[in-house]
Amino acid sequence: MTLQFRADVDLRPYNTFGMAARAAHFCQLDNAADLPALLAHPLYRQGPVLWLGGGSNLLLTRDYPGLVVKVALAGIRLLGEDGDDVIVEAAAGENWHGFVQHALAQGWFGLENLSLIPGTVGASPVQNIGAYGVEVKDRLLEVVCARLDRNGEALTLSNAECRFGYRDSVFKREAAGRLLVTAVRFRLSRRADLRTGYGDIQKQLQADGVDQPTPLDISRAVVAIRQSKLPDPAVLGNAGSFFKNPVVDARQAAALLERHPQLPNYPAADGRVKLAAGWLIDQCGLKGYRDGDAGVHDKQALVLVNHGQATGAQMHALARKVQGSVSEKFGVALEPEPLIL
Ligand SMILES: Cc1cc2nc3c(=O)[nH]c(=O)nc-3n(C[C@H](O)[C@H](O)[C@H](O)COP(=O)(O)OP(=O)(O)OC[C@H]3O[C@@H](n4cnc5c(N)ncnc54)[C@H](O)[C@@H]3O)c2cc1C
Repeated sequence: MTLQFRADVDLRPYNTFGMAARAAHFCQLDNAADLPALLAHPLYRQGPVLWLGGGSNLLLTRDYPGLVVKVALAGIRLLGEDGDDVIVEAAAGENWHGFVQHALAQGWFGLENLSLIPGTVGASPVQNIGAYGVEVKDRLLEVVCARLDRNGEALTLSNAECRFGYRDSVFKREAAGRLLVTAVRFRLSRRADLRTGYGDIQKQLQADGVDQPTPLDISRAVVAIRQSKLPDPAVLGNAGSFFKNPVVDARQAAALLERHPQLPNYPAADGRVKLAAGWLIDQCGLKGYRDGDAGVHDKQALVLVNHGQATGAQMHALARKVQGSVSEKFGVALEPEPLIL
């Protein structure tokens, strides 16, 4: 189907926070062959343009004044095999969890710890999604992109060229607005290499009576843990963790730990220390806090939730209040994870 443009579109169904913002213009990209026509279209050229996947890492604080493009490119294919390894390509618009489940069903392992993360395959490298000891960069071979400044010409970035970091990549920085992810290639394995180090996974497997886990068992355990801890966006609007876990230098970490010996902390790169943002927020007495319909989740303080009619501006004000409280009590700056527009 050719591109269809709509005006004044309600974005509520397109963002998991359920924010009532409208897009001046909207279209869905189902077919990569339509990209040159899209890039030449006056609505695109006029801008601004927002490339949208599942809208699960986005806080809309106002109506979007330009063109929102929902990336809906579909398809999963096996590109090749190399010993036990399989090279698999998934198009950007594929649902992430659907892809993980498809891979498991084929006996392609490696993504099971990332089960049930909302959103699309195309957004997975943008913030290098991660959970339960695995990040997408651990299994990602390369990212197929379209150059937006060159009529959609294809460009493939290697894993190293994506410059992945903790919830970070080139797509959030230099390549933002310049490269569209059209597909992601993964190196998966027919041989299971289980990551069960996370205490929660161990506990869940025990509760499930599993002592010789398969990748499918890990996936099921991760799904069960996530369902018990995280609010379902279909029921309670949210964008997952609203803040990144802050990474501080060793000296600041030591000083904080002297005052707060319970503070959960993990070694990070270059001798730095990652702190649990949820714990910091909880210690400020904000778990379950509510200002109208904008709230801090009562089970996981890292998640901000829309109890119904919160506006994006209210949610943003709550985020700033949380940042202010944590900064005042601990001297630690919290950085938001979602794109705030
Ligand atoms: C309940 C819940 C739990 C979550 N848990 C986790 C978790 O455990 N770990 C984690 O890392 N994240 C988590 N998230 C955040 C979110 O699911 C991920 O960031 C996900 O990758 C976002 O995908 P999306 O398709 O919804 O992206 P969107 O929100 O649509 O977009 C996010 C950003 O990516 C850009 N983008 C989207 N598609 C493309 C593309 N094809 N090319 C270039 N840029 C693109 C957008 O412009 C935007 O800047 C969670 C969110 C929710 C709601």
